[in-house]
Amino acid sequence: MRALRIHEHGGPEKLLLEQVPSPPMGPGEARVRVHAAGLNHLDLWVRRGIPGVHYPLPLTPGCDGAGVLLETGEAVQGFQPGEKVVLAPGLSCGMCEACFAGRDNLCREYGILGEHRDGTCAEEIVVPGRNLIRLPGRLSFEEAAGVPLVFLTAWQMVVDRAKVTPGETVLVLGAGSGVGTAAMQIARLYGARVIAASGSDDKLQKARALGADEGIDLSRSNLRDEVRRLTGKRGADVVIEHVGKATFEQSLLCLTWGGRLVTCGATTGADVSLNLRHVFFKNLSILGSTMGSRAHLEAIFRHVEAGRLRPVVDRVLPLAQAPEAHRLLEERRIFGKIILAP
Ligand SMILES: [Zn+2]
Repeated sequence: MRALRIHEHGGPEKLLLEQVPSPPMGPGEARVRVHAAGLNHLDLWVRRGIPGVHYPLPLTPGCDGAGVLLETGEAVQGFQPGEKVVLAPGLSCGMCEACFAGRDNLCREYGILGEHRDGTCAEEIVVPGRNLIRLPGRLSFEEAAGVPLVFLTAWQMVVDRAKVTPGETVLVLGAGSGVGTAAMQIARLYGARVIAASGSDDKLQKARALGADEGIDLSRSNLRDEVRRLTGKRGADVVIEHVGKATFEQSLLCLTWGGRLVTCGATTGADVSLNLRHVFFKNLSILGSTMGSRAHLEAIFRHVEAGRLRPVVDRVLPLAQAPEAHRLLEERRIFGKIILAP
């Protein structure tokens, strides 16, 4: 089969499309013909490498995928070959206290497809049986592959960590990103007023079409000033952060008294400065968030099936154009998701 392979870390040219043997399958696993693989910021980190983080190279990247079930091991029940499925990206032991509590993303063994074992950027993938989710009827493979990682991430941020309630104001940074487009929709679903922030007016137009109530163009306006203006000097209840260094200090200043900042990433750098006086005087909360529990994906896909949440697919490219796809994502020249078709 054909698979995208990373043998060494570096630029997009390190993504090689190769012929590799079909992977072996254990009794608790399932083999899926991948029709669509979603690209995420995670894939950029895996390709570039992070000092101190070990990746099992050579590796096939890709944590999001949808396709057709080819075969299941004898221990996998409830699915038949030929069914359309979408894959849960998280891997966990299934046996520890966190896993039994339904908080599998807190499992000490937690891993992600395409990071800790071969991922979805291939014609075939073998995954644990519990990573299979039946594909909702109204979704295409491409749409389904645009859901798992970003909606799971955004769901935990908005619902679990920030506990957004109706009437609150939620500021979403990087509104054109995969996580941003998901977070805006989920915050709306929970009755919040959504302020979208982005460096591009074109992306803000699209954010409004997706349900954002207001938009802040960071290429023209100061974030804090605009949030104060839009909230009658009050500030936002919640900030959804994944930009990091470039925006973090400003993000914190955008919060009202008792506000919550949730961060799931740092695409511009992870070293930020923090004025503690500001945090304790205003009773602020800074909350970390990574991925989300497997159970949340079931809820997310029910909302997607009902049309209350929808994946935003910017474009679909053949797997051979993965280097170009990485460049587009790195340069933020997309709104929502890039999907690769193996
Ligand atoms: Zn576990």
